[in-house]
Amino acid sequence: AEVRESYERATPQSRALAERARSVMPGGDTRSVTYHRPYPSFVDSASGASLRMVDGETLLDVLNNYTQSVLGHAPDPVVEAVCDRFRAGNGVAAPTEPAVELAELLVDRVDSIDRVRFCNSGTEATMNAIRAAMAWTGEERICKIDGGYHGTHDIVEIGVSGDGRAHKGIPRSAERRVQTVSYNDTEQLKATFEAVGDEMACLILEPILGAGGMIPATDEFLRTARDVTTDADVPLIFDEVMSFRLAPGGAQERRDVEPDLTALGKLIGGGLPVGAVAGREQLMAQFHPETGSIDHSGTFNANPATMIGGVATLEELDEDAIVELNRRGNELRERLQQVGDASSQQITITGEGSLFQIHFTDGPVRDWRSSGAGGSLSEPLFHAMRREGIFLAPRGMGNLSTAMDDEDIVTISAAFERALESL
Ligand code: PLP
Repeated sequence: AEVRESYERATPQSRALAERARSVMPGGDTRSVTYHRPYPSFVDSASGASLRMVDGETLLDVLNNYTQSVLGHAPDPVVEAVCDRFRAGNGVAAPTEPAVELAELLVDRVDSIDRVRFCNSGTEATMNAIRAAMAWTGEERICKIDGGYHGTHDIVEIGVSGDGRAHKGIPRSAERRVQTVSYNDTEQLKATFEAVGDEMACLILEPILGAGGMIPATDEFLRTARDVTTDADVPLIFDEVMSFRLAPGGAQERRDVEPDLTALGKLIGGGLPVGAVAGREQLMAQFHPETGSIDHSGTFNANPATMIGGVATLEELDEDAIVELNRRGNELRERLQQVGDASSQQITITGEGSLFQIHFTDGPVRDWRSSGAGGSLSEPLFHAMRREGIFLAPRGMGNLSTAMDDEDIVTISAAFERALESL
């Protein structure tokens, strides 16, 4: 209560804006994930690793738009490229070279990617990947992970980390089309494919369970995912919307397991809305307008400013930048775990590379059910960290950007120590 009161005292402008927003948008926002009690605070502007809030505070952004802003905010090369493209005319109903460049970069970086189709969100990316798998196999059921988040289209809303509420508005038929397995449960995955593998259109999973708790897959689980799908002749889809930052060729390169299709989004649009479905030539040929069988359009698909923003981002996010980002992430997770171990709370830090999450449990955390995320201390921790000048996800998830340095790692761990003491 005390933390919350100090939040309210510190954010009168946000409170006024939130009230204004509520009279025109349910809950005062259009993103369930950015909402928190008593009201979310408003950002005025963002630059590098900092958020400037409307109430005048400056916060270190350790959320980076849920991993999208991997270079931090408003990186010069990206801003310049996007602005130049805007001046050159942006919305046109014909292809432009920037899309070819971005597709070429992805094909170069990722071994399993022969062809790419762009869309406007990670949601559309997984929707199109699943559609390609359904068209390929003629099947309508999918196998996904309990707690696996792949966006907001009907079928992938099934089996998402529950908040206990009934999610209405999703057809019942979607439930019948989804078979879930627990993350990292190799035996369950094998048994599921032995029993119903031939009814599946695909297996879709994240190489690191993101929204479900930032939990890395074991090598055994990823290899089994590849083996059971190969045996059943079912496409394996990796959702790398979050994990692509882990290596130049994504988590699949880092973990040395190649999927048939990859869903991408977030960072590959340079800060503008984006998604992509990509993969093996034959599967992707189904999107060919003359010879394929899948319609795929969108007013903003391959929007030139987005494409050029993506190219500029990937050029900056080269191997050296990624190695450095992952090194800092490893150091941060180590420090946070040390702070947690020395505190009176039970803390397990999960993650990989520059991705992490704080769980209020003594672990081990290997799937969504064993994660302490969303527990009763997550939101108080969020407020306590915010009071220390650190902006995290309300559920305790965070990630680094290349705009941060080693000092920021020390700042975050010291803030975590003080925040835990205050709980
Ligand atoms: N897949 C994963 C792994 C994600 O983390 C997200 C978003 O957080 C999505 C898909 C959906 O992407 P978008 O929010 O762009 O629709």
